[in-house]
Amino acid sequence: MYAQNALADETARLAALRRLDILDTPPEEPFENVVNLVRAVLGVPISVVTLLDEERQWFKARVGLDATETPRDVSFCTHTIRQRMPLVIPDAKADSRFADNALVNGAPHIRAYAGVPLVTSDGYNVGALCAIDTRPRDFSEGEIAILRNFASIVVNEMELRRIAERDQLTGVLTRRGFLDRVEKEMARARRHGHAASLVLIDIDHFKTVNDTWGHPAGDAVLRELAKVLHGSGRHADLLGRIGGEEFAMLLPEADGAAALAAAERHRAAIAAHPIAIAPARTIAITASFGIAALDDTTATAEDWIARADVPLYEAKHAGRNRCIAA
Ligand code: GH3
Ligand code: MG
Ligand code: MG
Repeated sequence: MYAQNALADETARLAALRRLDILDTPPEEPFENVVNLVRAVLGVPISVVTLLDEERQWFKARVGLDATETPRDVSFCTHTIRQRMPLVIPDAKADSRFADNALVNGAPHIRAYAGVPLVTSDGYNVGALCAIDTRPRDFSEGEIAILRNFASIVVNEMELRRIAERDQLTGVLTRRGFLDRVEKEMARARRHGHAASLVLIDIDHFKTVNDTWGHPAGDAVLRELAKVLHGSGRHADLLGRIGGEEFAMLLPEADGAAALAAAERHRAAIAAHPIAIAPARTIAITASFGIAALDDTTATAEDWIARADVPLYEAKHAGRNRCIAA
């Protein structure tokens, strides 16, 4: 079931970690709950959910610890992720691997450690759930079993988090997933002084498709439209389904003119692509586009969408099947 050599293949392990898209994200309740429970149930002062990046370990959740990350070479967990079994160190000072460790001899003064690897469903150890004490102690079999159960909850949460970002029907980002990416891109664009543009896409007369051919035909149109938009876009462009029959695209590094050109390309691709809704039955679909380049007045992802909604409305009123920029 697990990928062969998943424990030794660091490149694939890092790719699995990247797929989770969780590094450097804000604290989230399910992970906070787990570390607090570990602390209470196992009676330890410190618990962390740690993810092992190339050069560092980064804490998705932590209690009893100030640091948000540490270099990887001092981390206990870099040992834990080399194995499938929990790593238990009753006294770090009595263990040659850790006796000289900076985290043992200095803050946070780790003495006892129990870590369970976080194994993704495709078999990669992306990190560990750890219980840490500042005094030597043993961990009972029962306590390790509890830690393992919590670790599987953590992995489930990390994977569910990704599933919730994908729309079931079309496979593109959900509104929530899309807004998350937009917020990140806004911050990135501002940090680097890059342009970025947002394109809103609304299918023309979609209600008529449903009314004439039925809801499943409408669904087929949505699925096919997502494919066409993917096929005529660039790899870095992000596509989301932000409403029933409304899609949005984020174009990193595209100014208004570049985004208008891209939107025009997508519009033409949709108009030129008859969609099969039943055997031997295809229909033509068009869509209208509203474009807004990032500017200083745009505070949130929702604001940005609202700014692109204005020209989209204009495009509808001007006759549909067209692109208009704010
Ligand atoms: P316009 O050109 O002005 O956009 O007209 P329209 O008919 O596309 O616009 P309107 O917003 O009135 O209709 C959108 C329709 O989309 C209504 C709703 O039934 C349909 N819809 C929303 N979500 C889904 C879905 O998941 N599947 C299907 N088949 N239809 C959906
Ligand atoms: Mg609509
Ligand atoms: Mg519509």
